[in-house]
Amino acid sequence: MTEFWEWREAPPGHFAVLGDPIAHSKSPAMHAAAYRARGLRLDYRAVRVPLDELAPALARLRDLGYRGVNCTVPLKEAAAEWAKGRGGWEEADGLAPRVGANTLDLRAGRAASTDEAGFMASLPAELMPGTALILGAGGSGKALALALKDAGWSLRLWNRTPGRWEDWSQLPAQAEVVPTAESAGCSLVVNATSAGLSGMAPPVEWAGSGHAVELAYGRVSPFLAQAESAGWTAQDGRAMLVEQGALAFEWWLRIPAPRRDMLQAVL
Ligand code: NAP
Repeated sequence: MTEFWEWREAPPGHFAVLGDPIAHSKSPAMHAAAYRARGLRLDYRAVRVPLDELAPALARLRDLGYRGVNCTVPLKEAAAEWAKGRGGWEEADGLAPRVGANTLDLRAGRAASTDEAGFMASLPAELMPGTALILGAGGSGKALALALKDAGWSLRLWNRTPGRWEDWSQLPAQAEVVPTAESAGCSLVVNATSAGLSGMAPPVEWAGSGHAVELAYGRVSPFLAQAESAGWTAQDGRAMLVEQGALAFEWWLRIPAPRRDMLQAVL
């Protein structure tokens, strides 16, 4: 478990990850390793912020000297809204927040989303666009649907609660919303649900072969275990965590991130 502060009690600092819950986050260890490797005298804390307290929390952290924050569940959409009325959105390098923002510059009031580029960079280089099944219509599932579509993938979209994909205003025209999660005909299955956080797996009917990715990390994944026993290759969320963190580091500090040191810190 990572040491964390309630936002009203957070000490002065430089960078932080905000979320609710937040004790599971490996971002503080990962960014601390990056600062050490680059000889930077900076700190990165974990801070619990409930969704309806994001705006006052961001104001307080900025007043305490924080330069930037990452936002995780359930804050990403609210983080993008916060920036809309201030410095706006990052448009460069594919970091524009289209669904939610995971990276904020508190001084400039600007937002970026490094999740999509981080996810795409984490996929095996040899994986060519085909059909991807995305499980979960939360913020991450939607962001990755747009990133995969842009990269030339056909999409099958499943969610536990029916209607969430269909109600999405950015639903790609060519995407197919499916009532059951069947992997046959797909070369990539992405678990963007938070089922793994409670030790569960979404109900996939495994067939065919390909690559399975669970976005969550740091726990035993029943989803990846089932994928592997069905003959699929498997990857958890650590590679994406490192790449989205490296892109945030570079967006804030404008120097190359030490990815190998960051990965070592989350293994
Ligand atoms: P979110 O917006 O809260 O969405 C959660 C999704 O999970 C919803 O679609 C929900 O379905 C579904 N779900 C929850 N419990 C389920 C269960 N038992 N069975 C099936 N579906 C279930 O969360 P998010 O921001 O998209 O994040 C999703 C996951 O990705 C989290 O575990 C998060 O930690 C991880 N993540 C990792 C990284 C990384 O860098 N590795 C980055 C971003 C996110 P309903 O609509 O039916 O409720």
